[in-house]
Amino acid sequence: MHLETKLVQAGVGKDSQTGAVSFPVYHATAYRHPALGESTGFDYSRTANPTRTVLEQAIADAEGGDAGFAFASGMAAIHTLMGLFSQGDHFVVSLDLYGGTYRLFEQVLSRYGLSFSYVDLRDLEQVEKAIQPETKALLVETPTNPLMQVTDIARVCQLAKRHGILTLVDNTFLSPYFQRPLELGADLVFHSATKYLGGHNDVLAGLIVTKGAELSEKVRFLHNSIGAVLGPQDSWLLLRGMKTLALRMERHQSNAFALARCLREHPAVAEVFYPGLDDHPDHEVQKSQSNGFGGMLSFRVRDAAQVAPFLSRLRIVSFAESLGGVESLCTYPATQTHADIPRDIREKVGVCDRLLRLSVGIEHPDDLIADLSQALDVSLQAGGNQR
Ligand SMILES: *Cc1c(COP(=O)(O)O)cnc(C)c1O
Repeated sequence: MHLETKLVQAGVGKDSQTGAVSFPVYHATAYRHPALGESTGFDYSRTANPTRTVLEQAIADAEGGDAGFAFASGMAAIHTLMGLFSQGDHFVVSLDLYGGTYRLFEQVLSRYGLSFSYVDLRDLEQVEKAIQPETKALLVETPTNPLMQVTDIARVCQLAKRHGILTLVDNTFLSPYFQRPLELGADLVFHSATKYLGGHNDVLAGLIVTKGAELSEKVRFLHNSIGAVLGPQDSWLLLRGMKTLALRMERHQSNAFALARCLREHPAVAEVFYPGLDDHPDHEVQKSQSNGFGGMLSFRVRDAAQVAPFLSRLRIVSFAESLGGVESLCTYPATQTHADIPRDIREKVGVCDRLLRLSVGIEHPDDLIADLSQALDVSLQAGGNQR
């Protein structure tokens, strides 16, 4: 069955008592046991909830994994999966990492004796050098945020297997519609489902999908033991969002292509980063490992003085800090998503004061182009058109 069909049909026919097409929201936290030593499969809602279970099966199916787990946020998912490891363990991690993940690692988990090396995972020699006897996993975010750098997932997975360590992939940016890391050799995939999977900027959630019975059981234990689980109402909202993932991703992508091409031509713009463009340095790698390039792009204006007037002139695109929803959003990474990353590291990875990130929504492309163009025109005057 195709992914589109699997997602649309998630939960359909699962409520056999009523035949409800939209799977119901089970608010019950406790479930009656038929008899001593017997269970309906549901005992207590932290361990398993029927609405959450339908969602978890849907994401496991979509990613081609063995088990799915839903969490209260992407960060809750990442924190839980780090429970697989112990004091003294070391990790090799994408250099250009989501700011919240960096903060969790450096300001929380470092106090528990975990340590992290941030490496450009496109450079396998550097990855190899960073691996120590204590290294337990590679943590890959691809494409990276906000510079859209692409890691060759199959190659880093092979390297990790040679060293007997796990590969964990943050698949938030492309979603399983475009990219399925488990099929490329990864052991575990996680998501901020707040983004494309939810898709409507209205539900905060995280997801994990695992491969293999042993790893699945370990994550199941942590999911229940830590308890940062997704509530039934939010599980239902997320499931509803996921049903239209395929349609939305296609439109996000076609709009992103249109905007990337238009931005490139505008005199106010110095550089555009979108892996779908033929001359993006990682275009070929992305093409070889995914069915698409997604709806995220970033660009540099010519002068940092253009940023404020540009953002205040936007009318349709919202200046806001998220991504993956039907509404187009523009983010200024230096003061928003990457504010917790020290300036020198931030600039080293290219998140300078002239960089803006667009989460391209599913509006009509002509309206988005018109909105960005008029705001860029105004910014040019303010920026003094410096080169
Ligand atoms: C948003 C995001 C997260 C964190 O997820 P939340 O749902 O905000 O907790 C992690 N990774 C990436 C790539 C993200 O964009």
